[in-house]
This record gives sequence, C-alpha cells and structure tokens, in this order.
Amino acid sequence: MNLPIVYHPDYVTPLPEGHRFPMPKFGKLYEMLLGDRVANPEQFHTPKRPPQDWIELVHIPEYVQAYCKGTLDPKAQRRIGLPWSPALVNRTCTAVGGTILTAQLALKYGLACNTAGGTHHAFPSYGSGFCIFNDLAIATRVLQQLGLAQKILILDLDVHQGDGTAFIFQDDKSVFTFSMHCEVNFPGTKQKSDLDVPLPVGMDDDAYLQTLAKYLPDLLSEVQPDLVLYDAGVDPHAGDRLGKLALTNAGIYRREMQVLSTCAAAGLPVASVIGGGYADDLNALIYRHSLLHRAASEVYRQYRL
Ligand SMILES: [Zn+2]
Repeated sequence: MNLPIVYHPDYVTPLPEGHRFPMPKFGKLYEMLLGDRVANPEQFHTPKRPPQDWIELVHIPEYVQAYCKGTLDPKAQRRIGLPWSPALVNRTCTAVGGTILTAQLALKYGLACNTAGGTHHAFPSYGSGFCIFNDLAIATRVLQQLGLAQKILILDLDVHQGDGTAFIFQDDKSVFTFSMHCEVNFPGTKQKSDLDVPLPVGMDDDAYLQTLAKYLPDLLSEVQPDLVLYDAGVDPHAGDRLGKLALTNAGIYRREMQVLSTCAAAGLPVASVIGGGYADDLNALIYRHSLLHRAASEVYRQYRL
C-alpha cells in the first residue's frame, strides 16, 4: 500500500487565454507525479461531486444556488476573479469532493494528499481571491456530520491568510484554525484565526522553518485533533508572483517533511491540499507543488502508514 492521492481530470477546466490563474497546473501535477514515478496509477483515487447540501453546511443556500446557476451579480463574480462557466462549476464542486475524499482517506490510512484544494478565501456568502467554495471548511463539517471526526485542526501555511476559514469557524470550538502567512499580503483585511502567525516580507528558509518549529509541536499537543487538514500552499516560494517570502525548493520540501513527520510521530492523520502557487514558469511551479507528494510518500514509507 502506497500513499493515497486524489485527482480528477475535471480539476482542469479551460480559462480564457492569458488568464493569471494557472489552471493547467492540476493536470500537469498529476502527469509529473506519474512521470517522475512519485506515484503509480493505482495510488490515485477519483472523487465525486458532493451533494449540494454538503456545500450548504458552510455556504448559504442563496450563494450556492446563484453560483451554480450562473446568476451571481457581476460584482460578486469579479471578487472571485475567475470567469463563470458550467465547466468551472463542475470543477469547483469536484475539487471540494476531492478534499472530502482526501480527508476520509487520511482517517483510514493516516495520510492522504489531494492534487487541488485550499480555497481558503471563500466565505459563507461570497467567494474571493480565486476561491468559490471553501473546501477545507466543507470537508471539516462533512466529517463531523458523518461522525468520522470531532476535533479538527486546520493548518494553513499558504502565504495568504486563511481568512474565509478563520471567519467560518470563529465561534466553533471544535475546529482550531492556524494560519502562518506574510503579514502585508492579500487579504487586505485579515480575520482572526485561533492562532495567526504573521511573517515579515522576505523571510527565508531557516527563519521560516524555525518559526514553524516553535509553534507546531505545542499546537498538536494542545489541540489534540482527530485530523489535521493541511493547506500546503507553495506561494511562500521566492519565485512566486504573489508571495513576498523567500523560500527555496529545499525549504518547501523541509517544511512538508517537518509538518507531516511531526504529525505522523504524534499519531495524527493528515489530509493535505496543494493550496496557492503562482508563477509564469509552469514547470517550476508544478515541481514546487509536487514536493508535498514527494515528502508525503517518504513519510508514508518511514512511518509504515
Ligand atoms: Zn495563497
């Protein structure tokens, strides 16, 4: 048995030529994982579109229905930043299903990775910053509803604050939200996570990893979650178009090893999503995202999960 990975061909849907959201990365990540023999075809699990009432465990029905039908007003649509199409609706819902499946696999096998997900800027009644429905929040509520997990830790290391997730769970003691992000980056108005660690512009590998090491072990022992949902955004990379931090590939790999092995050593299951990553060099970007699956495969072997 090898690391379970979740992918669906519908994770990719065409956007207008030159759109700044790197949509092809999801399919190319899948191809790289196979091509570099990080994973074999049997390791991949295919998610389904979740029923709409699962999405409505987090989002208000008016928003879900308007988005799915394409009747959202133009201002709300612009805030999302992705041009609406029926294919994008399918893509959005399938990716949410992917994070739910990843979480279920993580509970069963100890560790699992999605090849999409991390739409943490989505709020109950609106989307924002390329995020339409909040997969991390929906997966959390679905697992709780199904009685598969009670206490959940959302560990968000994307370079942008997980503002939607923080808002959704602000009064919910069963979910602990942790966000470590660049302090002067999007979103302009930050929400209050259970624990926020804002980082200065330009922080490098060593300072970043030392900061993470200062918080992570205590966080795990204090929260004692049934599951960790990990947003492994690679936008803290020095080469990222939106990031403003200065991590290298080696730093990102060390980060993934640090997170996954600390959780595995504590006996905690981890479901990972890839989060943000923006670069003109698509191959370089995909490699950065694949560091999660490379590290997770290593941890999966080491800990015989
Ligand atoms: Zn981001």
